[in-house]
Amino acid sequence: MTALPPGSTIGILGGGQLGRMLAMAAARLGLKSHIYAPEAESPAFDVACAHTIAAYEDESRLIAFAKAIDVATYEFENIPVETVKFLSEHIPVRPGPKALACAQDRINEKSLARELGAMTADFAPIDSLDALEKVLDDGFPIPAVLKTRRFGYDGKGQAKITKREDVNRAWAEMRDQPSILESFVDFRAEVSVVAARAGDGSFAAFEVTENEHRDHILYRSLAPARLAPDVAEEAVAIARRIAERLAYVGVFAIEFFVVPENGRDRLFVNEMAPRVHNSGHWTIDGALTSQFEQHIRAVAGWPLGATALKAAGAEMINLIGDDISAWQQIAAEPGAFLHHYGKKEVRPGRKMGHVNRLLARAPA
Ligand code: AMP
Repeated sequence: MTALPPGSTIGILGGGQLGRMLAMAAARLGLKSHIYAPEAESPAFDVACAHTIAAYEDESRLIAFAKAIDVATYEFENIPVETVKFLSEHIPVRPGPKALACAQDRINEKSLARELGAMTADFAPIDSLDALEKVLDDGFPIPAVLKTRRFGYDGKGQAKITKREDVNRAWAEMRDQPSILESFVDFRAEVSVVAARAGDGSFAAFEVTENEHRDHILYRSLAPARLAPDVAEEAVAIARRIAERLAYVGVFAIEFFVVPENGRDRLFVNEMAPRVHNSGHWTIDGALTSQFEQHIRAVAGWPLGATALKAAGAEMINLIGDDISAWQQIAAEPGAFLHHYGKKEVRPGRKMGHVNRLLARAPA
């Protein structure tokens, strides 16, 4: 893969804050961005050279987009695979449709993790209320979590089953979509590996990150995660095996549950995001290369950047909904790095920005 020279244009499907931060990272390297998104008011438009407002199914607009760019990528995983397949007939798309298809389906994701020797929660595909009843009759343990196989994020499309009487309500919440029943994992922590693989097979991971959720939405990330070194190494090794199997090009994240067992932490793969990830936002200020620059480097065929922490540790706190109204206080705090996504409308649960801080001591 020859490196795209400065002045080339990266096409980004999706116009949210991830697209915005990708475009800003591209600009730093002298690369231009063209955002393709269906929403007329997309946060990424403000910082890109060009944008297209069109549906992901609009083939003539996709062809025009392909003509205007040198390579395409995407910033969220709910882009239809057909869009990525269609676009890849006209222009290279990185990561390719295979990785996207795998990450869009929780069953494929977990099956791949298991095939590569990683542990996951026990799981069963569920397509009807009858199937759910039968799996439970056959001894699937409660508590369990029912999730839609596709299009879930931030706890959407998820229902916990703590007793047999919960099944009707849980299935109703799936709205007849193909689903997966997962055993409930009694974890002590959640961690993620954010890493990149380049077209030449080179690989670089950031420090493993520890993630705290509130109301199913990421609230705080801490790096490095409080894990024994060999457990952190294992998490990175699992991420690398997954990336290699998918011939992945770009940044991705693997989320894990950490489960104590006989005095040792065991890792369970929860899910994969085929894109830059919220738990990697600390890298903008806390690592030698940010996850956004790293993704642009991989997609543009540039060498991967160094990933070491710039300090003993780093922390990211999401500014969700009204939290963003504290922007002036945060801006006045020495050492606080404010990232405001420029979204016009504040809504409860909406990610409006984040704040990064470097830590003088590693998290203990
Ligand atoms: P997900 O959409 O799979 O990332 O799930 C969102 C959050 O729900 C996770 O970060 C966990 O906190 C929780 N969760 C999801 N699946 C399970 C599970 N099988 N056992 C326990 N907690 C879960």
